Amino acid sequence: MDFKKYIADVPDFPEKGIVFRDISPLMADGEAYKAATDKIVEYAKDKGVEMIVGPEARGFIVGCPVAYEMQIGFSPCRKKGKLPRETIEVSYGLEYGSDILQLHKDSIKPGQKVLITDDLLATGGTIAATIKLVEKLGGIVVGAAFFIELEELKGRDKIKGYDIFTLMKY
Ligand code: IMP
Repeated sequence: MDFKKYIADVPDFPEKGIVFRDISPLMADGEAYKAATDKIVEYAKDKGVEMIVGPEARGFIVGCPVAYEMQIGFSPCRKKGKLPRETIEVSYGLEYGSDILQLHKDSIKPGQKVLITDDLLATGGTIAATIKLVEKLGGIVVGAAFFIELEELKGRDKIKGYDIFTLMKY
C-alpha cells in the first residue's frame, strides 16, 4: 500500500518553514490504518515483543492497536503530572528548553522485551527519552516503530544500536 497517499503535508505548521506530516487521514481510513498497524504487528512478532510503550499522544495511536492484536500490554509514557501513581522520570531537550516524560514505576517487568512506538521520528529526542525510562525499569528495548521518519533530522544517530522500523521516509 502507498501509505504516503494518506499523509497530509501541512506547510508552515506549527511555525513558518516547517512542513508538518499529519497522520490523521491515515487513521481516518480504516483500511489504511489497519494495513499500517499490520506491518508493525509483523515487525513486533518478529522481535518477540512482550510489552509496548509509547509517548503521548500519537505513540498511543500507533502502539495500542498493535498491543491489542498481539494480546500484550501497552504502557503510556506521559508528560510530567499526568500519571496518577508512582513514576520515574527523565528530562529531555526540545528545540527551545526542555520537558519531562514519565512512566509508572510498575509498568514494565525487568527483562521484558519492549517495543517503543510513535507516529514520527524527527530528531530522536522523544524516543531517546522513552528508551531511557524503559531501561531504568529493567526493560529490554528490542525495537522502535514509527509510521514516519524524517531522515534529514538524523534521529537514528541519537538512538544508535537500537533497531528501528519505519513505514515511510521523507
Ligand atoms: P523528535 O523528538 O524530534 O524525534 O520529535 C518527534 C516527536 O515530535 C513525536 O512525538 C512526533 O509526534 C512529534 N512531531 C515532530 N514533527 C512532527 C510532524 O511533522 N508531524 C507529526 N508529529 C511530529
